[in-house]
Amino acid sequence: MAWRTHSRGPTQRARLTEALRRAEAAGQGMAVLDLDGCLFDNRPRQLGILRAWAAAAGESEALASLSIGHFQDWDLRATLARAGRPKPWIEAHYEALRAAWWRGFFSSDWMHLDEPAPGAVAFVRRLTQAGLRPVYLTGRDDSMRPGTERALARVGFPWGDGRAALYTKPDAAEADHHWKARALAEVIPPERLVVGADNEPANVNLFLAHSPDAVVLWLDTDHSPSPAPLHPAALAVRGFLY
Ligand SMILES: [Mg+2]
Repeated sequence: MAWRTHSRGPTQRARLTEALRRAEAAGQGMAVLDLDGCLFDNRPRQLGILRAWAAAAGESEALASLSIGHFQDWDLRATLARAGRPKPWIEAHYEALRAAWWRGFFSSDWMHLDEPAPGAVAFVRRLTQAGLRPVYLTGRDDSMRPGTERALARVGFPWGDGRAALYTKPDAAEADHHWKARALAEVIPPERLVVGADNEPANVNLFLAHSPDAVVLWLDTDHSPSPAPLHPAALAVRGFLY
């Protein structure tokens, strides 16, 4: 697990090309695409939230060295330790920082900082040009929809063209994986899933169980602790550069 989206894995070009080739051969159907840790790098959002907390708490100096590279997992204590914060400081501020992170991250307020993964916009546009309908299927909940729509449009992902669709989670408490399974089974109008992409192995496996013939990319960026074993048919990539 590591963010290496600015580089290419050894077989990455062949794998992305295979997805595009399959899209062109199909000429129609869906590309089911995850957002966080897949099309978008949300580490700038997390950095912005923590810096704003620090400014308000008079701790700007303490977090001055915190940077994108320190966000490697979803463990805030570990992130702060990588940035050089001593354990007593982390424990003294953890609850307040965690609350600020939670409030900011699960809202529309900070998504203007999200960056597309390098190459992701061009890749999704090519899938669309091949005839696929982009279906953004995310664990973000409905309250995060306005910021998500703005971010999709801002960075140039296909959006607002009458074809692209965004599915956010109606109930924030529902587990992401459960939501995605339910969305594919009951919510998204049935259509052939031709290409899928997600950074959670469990969701990659779900796409392949749903559509064994699909090309499903696993983004090796970050994922939840104790991930499911990856389906052998999944195609691992670092990002979307090819
Ligand atoms: Mg994700």
